[in-house]
Amino acid sequence: MIPVTTVRLGEEEERLVLEVLRSGQLAQGAYVEQFETDFARLHGVRHGIAVNNGTTALVAALQALRLQPGDEVITSPFTFVATLNAILEAGAIARFADIGPDFNVDSDSMAALVNERTKVLLPVHLYGYMADMDAVMALAANHGLHVVEDAAQAVGARCGDQAAGSFGLGCFSLYATKNVTTGEGGMITTDDDVIADRLRVLRNQGMRRRYEYVTAGHNYRMTNIQAAIGIPQLARYQAVIVARQGNAAVLREGLADVPGLELPQVPAAGRTHVYHQFTIRITPKAPVSRDQFVEELTRLGIGCGVYYPAVVHSYDCYRDLSGVVPDVVPNAVAAAAEAVSLPVHQYLSEADLLEIIAGVREVLG
Ligand SMILES: *Cc1c(COP(=O)(O)O)cnc(C)c1O
Repeated sequence: MIPVTTVRLGEEEERLVLEVLRSGQLAQGAYVEQFETDFARLHGVRHGIAVNNGTTALVAALQALRLQPGDEVITSPFTFVATLNAILEAGAIARFADIGPDFNVDSDSMAALVNERTKVLLPVHLYGYMADMDAVMALAANHGLHVVEDAAQAVGARCGDQAAGSFGLGCFSLYATKNVTTGEGGMITTDDDVIADRLRVLRNQGMRRRYEYVTAGHNYRMTNIQAAIGIPQLARYQAVIVARQGNAAVLREGLADVPGLELPQVPAAGRTHVYHQFTIRITPKAPVSRDQFVEELTRLGIGCGVYYPAVVHSYDCYRDLSGVVPDVVPNAVAAAAEAVSLPVHQYLSEADLLEIIAGVREVLG
């Protein structure tokens, strides 16, 4: 089986984790601080605030913006459920703009939802490719809105001369399957000193110094053990991006002109796709449905994943919630029916890539 995700950690991770274990300083400490510094540098921002997962990163970012009941957050409906859950946990109302052909939220569709209750634009940089942040930032500036980036899948991605997480408040996930992983983990990035301070206080029970509570906070902290796993991966990360981009180029060439298959859009000039996923569409012109395609490809020993099988606000459990507005999003609904992600990770061999291409061609042939 060629898996859609492979996690391999190296000797440097083992060495650093052992160092932490032997130090006895398991909770948040010097390793977390180092990881935050490295992460912030990679994204060209002043602050990295490490937290215990990506969902927490989103919740804390929204809390730091001090939303009031009734405030609306406009996001993408074609995302992992965490994006929506975080908005609800922060006490805001979720609105859903439709997506464009790059699977990312479309800024014109966002603009159509802006009203006097709108407080935050929350684009999701899906599959490792950033939303059109020039357009999103222009819209935010026109209406005085905050921007929170769900950059969970986009560590190191770039849009123009800026990295993911450097436009608004950046929220990253370091979950087991993400491009950089600490098992569970998250990071918030910002250039804003006041927001960074608020986030550090929120993360630590609302304490600025021990037993000096300045707000009702929480425990969102990362451990030194997690940070020790992440630090060496960041140091190697440029090579990971290059390997994933190389694999994507091979897949593009091998899968060009397959009837019923749509390749991911070629990245726009100046935008770096870090290929967390290489996501194709099985269109109605294909001889099989997307779900049949998944079944057949799996039978051939090629792993794949459907991210995501339905738009996030269509599930029954969200239907009657006042915090979820059932906005109509036909492009996202179509994408959810057609999208499937092929393996693109850095551990694929040339033979793996040829097998993936041959397998996909066989199923659609
Ligand atoms: C993974 C992910 C999250 C949540 O991250 P966790 O670390 O799993 O909490 C949020 N948004 C998107 C788009 C993700 O892919």
